[in-house]
Amino acid sequence: MPIETPVYPDVNLMIAGEWRSARSGETLAVLDPATNEQIGTVAKASEVELEAAVVAAAEGFAAWSAVSAFDRSKIMRRAADLLRERCEHIAWLMTREQGKPLAEAKGETLAAADLIDWFAEEGRRAFGQMIPARSPGVLQMAVKQPIGPVAAFTPWNFPINQVVRKLSAALAAGCSIVIKAPEETPASPAELVRAFIDAGVPAGAVGLVFGDPAEISNYLIAHPVIRKVTFTGSTPVGKHLAALAGRHMKPVTMELGGHAPAIVLDDADIGKASATLAMSKFRNAGQVCVSPTRFMVQERVFGQFLDGFVEAAKALRVGNGLDPQTQMGPLANRRRVSALEGLIKDAVEHGAELRTGGRRIGNEGNFFEPTVLANVPVSARIMNEEPFGPVAIINPVSDLEEALSEANRLPFGLASYAFTGSTAAIAQLSARLEAGMLTINHLGLALPEVPFGGIKDSGYGNEGGTEAIQAFLTTKFVSLMQ
Ligand code: NAD
Repeated sequence: MPIETPVYPDVNLMIAGEWRSARSGETLAVLDPATNEQIGTVAKASEVELEAAVVAAAEGFAAWSAVSAFDRSKIMRRAADLLRERCEHIAWLMTREQGKPLAEAKGETLAAADLIDWFAEEGRRAFGQMIPARSPGVLQMAVKQPIGPVAAFTPWNFPINQVVRKLSAALAAGCSIVIKAPEETPASPAELVRAFIDAGVPAGAVGLVFGDPAEISNYLIAHPVIRKVTFTGSTPVGKHLAALAGRHMKPVTMELGGHAPAIVLDDADIGKASATLAMSKFRNAGQVCVSPTRFMVQERVFGQFLDGFVEAAKALRVGNGLDPQTQMGPLANRRRVSALEGLIKDAVEHGAELRTGGRRIGNEGNFFEPTVLANVPVSARIMNEEPFGPVAIINPVSDLEEALSEANRLPFGLASYAFTGSTAAIAQLSARLEAGMLTINHLGLALPEVPFGGIKDSGYGNEGGTEAIQAFLTTKFVSLMQ
């Protein structure tokens, strides 16, 4: 949709097929991370709206699960096409509220359309199976059924991507869903929901609420209508919500924080490794759960890799995401600026070498310099806490064994990266790295058709590939004597 004079909207709740403000009239401010000025508001739901959303989700589930997988798929594909048509406008909204460069916002919106298409097809192949029986005349079937209404909680770093993975897998399975999307970045996920409403999902099949995250999760997770919980966010919040869901016997999918190791051995193409990993590190200003953070580089090539990486970091153009020249936007909120300042200060105090960056840029908005720390001791906080920002930690290792032991030292296990020319090393890495995902000699994560998820404190369950839809299905065994 071409836009002449774009306007950032006041965002409402989607309940029972209608866009509604809160009955209380309460709203929350939405800020532009490039200026920290208010650009709009988002409605703040209270219990009245949450109850209405849950009642609608029960009705929406009855209606949507009765639509054949064949027709559900058509509606979903229509939503994907609407998203493509509206991409320019949606990307502009996302850049205004989240800060990322417009090209990244467009990429995220178009990738969401591809993801919907993939799940639309996968829903048509959610097969059960026949099990050979012991007696003639008996038919034994494992039947796949949608689990029921889902409650989904998503963060601000990828306002559309984090929602669309949950939304499309749930809808493809025949579930309804109530989404609590991020209050900081509400307009672009609201446009994603609008595409589904306009494509023809029944009222209540997709609900959207905003408000106080703890109030909403307490209400939705405990509600008997809700049958499944899915969350993306930090590990402490994930543990809290998983415990809450456990108390109510609700299965959960948890996509939590990481602290991704990137191992570079001396038989790798070092130029390619530093250029590729630097590009990945600073995407979305490093506010990515799969961002490479702890770089372990074999001693012989350490200097070469570090120099190449620092050069790439210094060359990045940081600015307002709406400027087409910008390669890295501001951090999404003020919290990240102070969190990063604290982590970098602590690292330097522990003896880390600050090779570039390390400071906030200017005094307007949340701009931060692309930062490289080298030779950081494990006692520094940043070696143990997810930085979630544009900071790379580059340390030397003597060999693969040392790299593996450092990589597996932390309780996280989400993404991991390696660059090497050795098949023996690749076999060791594939077998021994404790991570849900490993990409070797290139960036190959997060496509719709491949699994996406973590182990250990990074969570459980998958949000991509054939595994993703299973999280929204139950298996019913039926035995039939003819
Ligand atoms: P936070 O821990 O306060 O919140 C993380 C997310 O959880 C937010 O979207 C928030 O709205 C939500 N949340 C918080 N309490 C909740 C509750 N009781 N019920 C439901 N949802 C709740 O941190 P933050 O300052 O927003 O983000 C910083 C940290 O969060 C980062 O350090 C990173 O570890 C993590 N994070 C991870 C991802 C990811 O993709 N896995 C995305 C965003 C943030």
